[in-house]
Amino acid sequence: MCLYKHCPESPRTPTIRDTTHTKTALLDPVKMASLTKVATSELVKELQRRAACEQKNERRTIFVGPPGCGKGTQAPIIKDEYCLCHLSTGDMLRDAVKAGTEMGIKAKAIMDAGKLVGDDVVVGIIAEALTAPDCAKGFILDGFPRTVGQAKMLDSLLAKEGKSIDRVINLEIDDELLVKRVTGRLVHPGSGRSYNIYFNPPKVAGKDDITGEPLIHRGDDTEDKLRTRLQEFHAKTTPVLEHYKSKVATINADQEINTVTSIIRKSL
Ligand code: ADP
Ligand code: ADP
Repeated sequence: MCLYKHCPESPRTPTIRDTTHTKTALLDPVKMASLTKVATSELVKELQRRAACEQKNERRTIFVGPPGCGKGTQAPIIKDEYCLCHLSTGDMLRDAVKAGTEMGIKAKAIMDAGKLVGDDVVVGIIAEALTAPDCAKGFILDGFPRTVGQAKMLDSLLAKEGKSIDRVINLEIDDELLVKRVTGRLVHPGSGRSYNIYFNPPKVAGKDDITGEPLIHRGDDTEDKLRTRLQEFHAKTTPVLEHYKSKVATINADQEINTVTSIIRKSL
């Protein structure tokens, strides 16, 4: 039976993503309609997962590191284990570019050049994303803050709620090792899952392991643009580590993916 006036056309089945940075509202009719497509056993599993999450401590974490160091590879693993949300400003900006929003149109040229988008824009995105229910037990910020200005704005935002950053994971790696990582990167846009044609290939070439959907190569993942992005990182983002110095754990990111994951776990 259809309870809502727009059901008959039943047109919009929202994509279920696992990098959840969209707002969820209780009993939103569109979202509820999409749940009818999910098996009861899956819904029960999800409720059990959420109930288990209630027991976890809150953790507010930042992953810092140059493009290709492994932030986007590690964050989805760690966030599931600790019931955190994973907020990647790069992913969110790419979504805005894809959606053709005014902000997306402005950001595109800056991102294509490998430069940094304005502090106010990214802080605005993060401020909204942090209110999502899946951030209730804390978060992993991936690629944010990228300037000391962003870090200070984040600190004030959290201070209003009596909160602060607990841990900053600094993924350290030599610039030259990043060329193959970045030029060989393939991404599943729906989830943010990251693969690499040299080091971490998908099971089927060009396809996401979980959904089988096509993988993409990011337009800014060229050697040329990597050099500009690295300059931006060293000039503007490394001072963020100094800003949070008492909270930083530095990890050698030039190790097997699983090894890096275990060290992050120990550092949290
Ligand atoms: P970031 O989000 O920091 O830009 P990614 O997590 O997307 O970086 O990783 C960049 C590329 O390097 C991806 O293609 C990924 O598969 C690969 N990669 C990530 N961690 C490792 C690792 N420890 N060893 C080898 N390759 C890795
Ligand atoms: P990376 O793999 O280099 O870590 P991201 O996906 O995090 O790349 O970011 C891609 C691009 O999006 C950046 O080069 C920059 O233009 C923009 N961007 C992402 N996060 C921020 C931020 N916190 N501040 C400013 N610009 C950002």
